[in-house]
Amino acid sequence: MSVDVRREVLDRLGLGHRCASFVGGRSIDGEWEEAVTDRCPATGEALAEVLPAGPEVVDAAVRAARAAQPGWAALGVQGRGQLLHRLAERLAARLPDIALLDALDTGNPVVAMRSGAAKGVQAMREYAELGLEMKGETVPASAGGLHFTIPQPWGTVGVITAYNHPTMYLCNKVSPALMAGNAVVVKPAEQTPLSALALARLAADLLPAGVLNVVVGGSATGDALVRHPEVCRITFTGSVGTGVAVQRAAAESGRLKSLTLELGGKNPILVFPDADPQAAAAAAVRGMNFTRVQGQSCGSTSRLLVHRRLHDSVLAGIVERVARIRLGLPDREETEMGSLISPQHQQRVLSYIEGARREGAELVTGGGVPGGELAAGAYVEPTVFDRVEPGMRIAREEIFGPVLSVLTWEDETEALALANDTDYGLTASIWTNDLSTALRVATQIEAGYVWVNDVERRYPGVPFGGWKQSGLGVEHALAADILSFTRSKSVNVAVTL
Ligand code: NAD
Repeated sequence: MSVDVRREVLDRLGLGHRCASFVGGRSIDGEWEEAVTDRCPATGEALAEVLPAGPEVVDAAVRAARAAQPGWAALGVQGRGQLLHRLAERLAARLPDIALLDALDTGNPVVAMRSGAAKGVQAMREYAELGLEMKGETVPASAGGLHFTIPQPWGTVGVITAYNHPTMYLCNKVSPALMAGNAVVVKPAEQTPLSALALARLAADLLPAGVLNVVVGGSATGDALVRHPEVCRITFTGSVGTGVAVQRAAAESGRLKSLTLELGGKNPILVFPDADPQAAAAAAVRGMNFTRVQGQSCGSTSRLLVHRRLHDSVLAGIVERVARIRLGLPDREETEMGSLISPQHQQRVLSYIEGARREGAELVTGGGVPGGELAAGAYVEPTVFDRVEPGMRIAREEIFGPVLSVLTWEDETEALALANDTDYGLTASIWTNDLSTALRVATQIEAGYVWVNDVERRYPGVPFGGWKQSGLGVEHALAADILSFTRSKSVNVAVTL
């Protein structure tokens, strides 16, 4: 893609080619020799120089948030809702540019980034409408007395995001925290910092300075935010290992902190013998998220557990569909599958593929990297392994790439044991026309989000969150999300009878 496309989109969004943290309504400059180059992983081309925030910048962001928060809370739910609506309008007006920026930063196809950002805008609008649902309750605890609870904001909320859907996750996390009356300090993924900075700029003359701050950088910046004594509520999306590190750092800080952790998955899709094999094949491909994010989705159903009788027909249907997926550069409208997030991640995914071959799994399709104009990028072909055994690494570890493992089973007990034989517990998809089977399996499966004859879709208002090592707490629960960014206060009024 041309240098002009890259420069122009950054300029149109007010970012330029040097990007630093946005704190208290302005960009915080620093020692630019410490900057790192943010690259488009699909081509290796430079997008911008990004200056990582050290602890002093993180501290400045938290102080700015603390100073701004009382005024923000004092606007009331209607005042905050109106401003959030206006921010959503601004974001909607810049959606093509924001989506292109996310596509260049992630390597994901621009079509997918547009639909993700549009979902983020929609979520922001929905949260902006829900302020009046921030209700407490009254309790008839004494004769004549008045006993009620008030949900009140925590103050400053730390928001740490993963790289796969930058704008969508940003909106999903920031909107309820702001609606609850908190100020936020956002730490976007180091690979994809640009759209968060663009959003902060769009908000700069709309929200009071300090209400929405963005600190850019990697693990050291995130760690400083987690450990900051004034940040007592944190919402985090990322890998299990980092989630555990966040929990550890929170404890080591010596302060009690409330954490929401949205972590990884190794999710099963179970196909029962009465299912339609072609529908199941289509679901296996869609659920794997080969398109849009190249398998880099926490909810990807990367373990296909298919009844032995349907194995051949489902596998044939998968191979046929995978062959039609169009790989391409992320800024092209026709691209269905882009590049992985970085050359390092590409190598990691390829090493899983190599390991699976060595362990004896059968490579059915993919497994390599495309050539031509994609050779310079972090691409991996959509890959399917058959004859995967439960003990193999590709059956157990989250690859977070376009690799589907196929395992077979004979009876329901075996299917459930396979499905639950994992430390993860994020999503699961069940394919059967038998209602009793569907409900029996749905209740016994150890996962926080289960589909029956459906896959991949998230429904607004339906809580999404992981069991086991896949996380703590839920998101997408609309009014409940706003309440999750509040603390409950009980007030007891004695009445003399
Ligand atoms: P990651 O854990 O490497 O990074 C996530 C975020 O944490 C980034 O912003 C990173 O800079 C930051 N970070 C890194 N070390 C930190 C530390 N010590 N303290 C504080 N912050 C730190 O994850 P990733 O590679 O960006 O994303 C992929 C992972 O995210 C996968 O495991 C995926 O399943 C998961 N994910 C989960 C969900 C969900 O909703 N459950 C959604 C998307 C992604």
